[in-house]
Amino acid sequence: MARLTRDEMRGKAQTVLGLVDPAVLGSTLMHEHLIWDIRPPTIRDRDPGVEPGLANHWGMSSSTAASPANAWQPSVEVATEAVAEAVAAGCETIVELSIGGLSPDPDGLVRVARATGCHIVMGCGHYVEDYQFPENHTRSIDDFAAEMVAQVQEGMWGTQVRAGLIGEIGCQDAWTPLERRVMEAALIAQQETGAALTIHPARRQDSPQEVMDFIAARGGDPSRTIMDHIDRTVFDDDALFRLADTGVVLEWDLFGQESSLYVHNLDIDMPNDAGRLRAIRKVLDRGHKGQVVISHDICHRAHMTRWGGWGYAHIHRTVLPLMRRRGFSEAEIQEILVDTPRRLLTFA
Ligand SMILES: [Zn+2]
Repeated sequence: MARLTRDEMRGKAQTVLGLVDPAVLGSTLMHEHLIWDIRPPTIRDRDPGVEPGLANHWGMSSSTAASPANAWQPSVEVATEAVAEAVAAGCETIVELSIGGLSPDPDGLVRVARATGCHIVMGCGHYVEDYQFPENHTRSIDDFAAEMVAQVQEGMWGTQVRAGLIGEIGCQDAWTPLERRVMEAALIAQQETGAALTIHPARRQDSPQEVMDFIAARGGDPSRTIMDHIDRTVFDDDALFRLADTGVVLEWDLFGQESSLYVHNLDIDMPNDAGRLRAIRKVLDRGHKGQVVISHDICHRAHMTRWGGWGYAHIHRTVLPLMRRRGFSEAEIQEILVDTPRRLLTFA
């Protein structure tokens, strides 16, 4: 497979169908999963258990009644139906971050993109250590970096489909030596390819700052770095503003989760959509232009409309009208959904 050069990629974006003019990307969800497996690897050979349905919807939706079947979505047909719904609501591009450890399906996503007309941009690299392949434990920084560069320039997971950004690179609590090697490799790959880097921080308020300090110490570019899951991680204004001051792009990507209950960290109160918008408002009012993106991070079937959830159209159908009612200007909405994603997805 031909290897694209940095010069061929610079100034363009890369979807699963190939290089595109970034001007075509339009309204973009920056963090989703369409075809994924987020079951812990240790239970993947077991019976997937109860299917999500109406009678267990609250338990499946909140993960208070977890079932492996709910955490696994391998169907191209299901993904196509879900993306078509988002497109009908005004979504034009979806960033799909099912990477190493989450059963990425590049060829499946090509079929979804062709069937729906949605631009799909894939991430690359490896998720948190608990999900990584056993052989990763002995791999070097240079080996991971070379793999990510090839995933952007050549193709990934045995296919000819290339990545359009790096991540979501995973961090557990505590941040493990293996994860630090993958992060350092991602920084090398970012410098070599000009791609943006998106990061899954640990569920601990100082994790994003710890990662940004690590990146700054290695000469990384915060303006081309996205810190995911701010909604479940940062609750204190001082911590939020200090993070914003690094120049990183802040991602509120759990839109649609309207419950304060967050089973992965019972010590926090998860904000609802209105709370997310209030936090975003504070960051915009402090002058952090071009530092906010949003998404749903759907990775359970109960969150999809086919199983009674809010689905990938929720932001366009429900959150945009809410933003307008809450006084967000059209320019601000355009910046969050179109301009900032386009800047990030354009290879430097
Ligand atoms: Zn994710």
